Amino acid sequence: MFEYNTMKIRGGVCYPPEDVATPWTLEAYKSWGGYSALERVLGERTDPAAIIDCLKTSNLRGRGGAGFPPGIKWSFMPRNSPGQKYILCNSDEGEPGTCKDRDILRYNPHALIEGMAIAGYVMGASVGYNFIRGEFWEPYLQVEAAIREAREAGLLGDDILGSGFAFDMHNHLGAGAYICGEETALMEALEGKKGQPRFKPPFPAAFGLYGRPSTINNTESLASVPAILRANGNWMDGEWFSDIGVPNSGGTKIFSVTGHVEEPGNFEVPMGTPFRDLLAMAGGVWKNRQLKAVIPGGSSVPVLPAEIIMECTMDYDALRDAGSAVGAGSVIIMDETTDMVQVLERLAYFYHEESCGQCTPCREGTGWLYRILHRINRGRGTMEDLDTLLDVANRIEGRTICALGDAAAWPVQSFLRHYRHEFEAKIRDAGSRAA
Ligand code: SF4
Repeated sequence: MFEYNTMKIRGGVCYPPEDVATPWTLEAYKSWGGYSALERVLGERTDPAAIIDCLKTSNLRGRGGAGFPPGIKWSFMPRNSPGQKYILCNSDEGEPGTCKDRDILRYNPHALIEGMAIAGYVMGASVGYNFIRGEFWEPYLQVEAAIREAREAGLLGDDILGSGFAFDMHNHLGAGAYICGEETALMEALEGKKGQPRFKPPFPAAFGLYGRPSTINNTESLASVPAILRANGNWMDGEWFSDIGVPNSGGTKIFSVTGHVEEPGNFEVPMGTPFRDLLAMAGGVWKNRQLKAVIPGGSSVPVLPAEIIMECTMDYDALRDAGSAVGAGSVIIMDETTDMVQVLERLAYFYHEESCGQCTPCREGTGWLYRILHRINRGRGTMEDLDTLLDVANRIEGRTICALGDAAAWPVQSFLRHYRHEFEAKIRDAGSRAA
């Protein structure tokens, strides 16, 4: 493992090998097979449909949170329709607990560039945009440098490697709004408008950026593509990647383990890795304390108590069966001293603050959730407030334009499902002090 800033990194498919000193350079990337997939695809004029089949076989699921397979998403694009089409990369990583994509941008930017160029070839697009979270200034510079290197080496531009295929990409820095990580809000922001989600349908494959067919994938998804095609020497054997994981959850996945652990870090591990092993990689729960709860996929997914998560493996089916989700793979560890009321108030504040205000259940409901939780946490809550909280959360869920509404509702529902007694105790204690 090598360290950069404060996070531990464990490499694999999306992260570079661990023994490379400057993995972000073109020279280093080529040393472990970088750009050989693009070279071969262009040299052999590989059938785009075969590449899509390979991705489908690989069981790669979208790494941004929703888990939708990129192979299927790519197949929706009208490859041969005339006019401009776009490949978009969502590097607007902003959910609390999520910090994996910034390290792909920092350490392995050429894998993303190669993945986007291959996506451009498959879907008949000649332009790509990488939308980077506004605070990621240093990762942005790292990708900018890599794009310059790729252009100078003929790996981006009008005639890539003399093949006649044209593709170029550009970075775009966001301005700090979490909602711009929603794919259509991202497109609005790229167009220079207020970043608000669009009604769907139409979906981006028909009406995307500037109204043109567009495909948007997460950074980790796109950066996985070259390695999946290389397949460790078995060219385009999708099963190579699929077999690394477990059924329905192919390959490796980066999990960001943060919170109350000794050594927080980004760990790229096979899907299906036991949670216990992941926790051990991060040095275990800090200060010799007991594990209390874990949010396994970023702040929007339901929380799980220690006794449940300790028996889980980290994959889509296991976490779904346990009542939560892989999400973006952002594992937030909470020790035995954690005040769950305080945590939920903080999460509710985040979603209230980040709601774009476009639809009523989210705009008003997130405010209600935050204000009720604030009241409970300050000792002014009532037992009726707990039912109101659930009622509001249930009225938001499934009734909004984008998933931010659900993301605000799910933590409330799951915290009350597993830790209602703590909320009740806080209300009771405040009442008895006042009496
Ligand atoms: Fe905006 Fe919230 Fe509606 Fe999404 S759910 S469009 S963030 S108001």
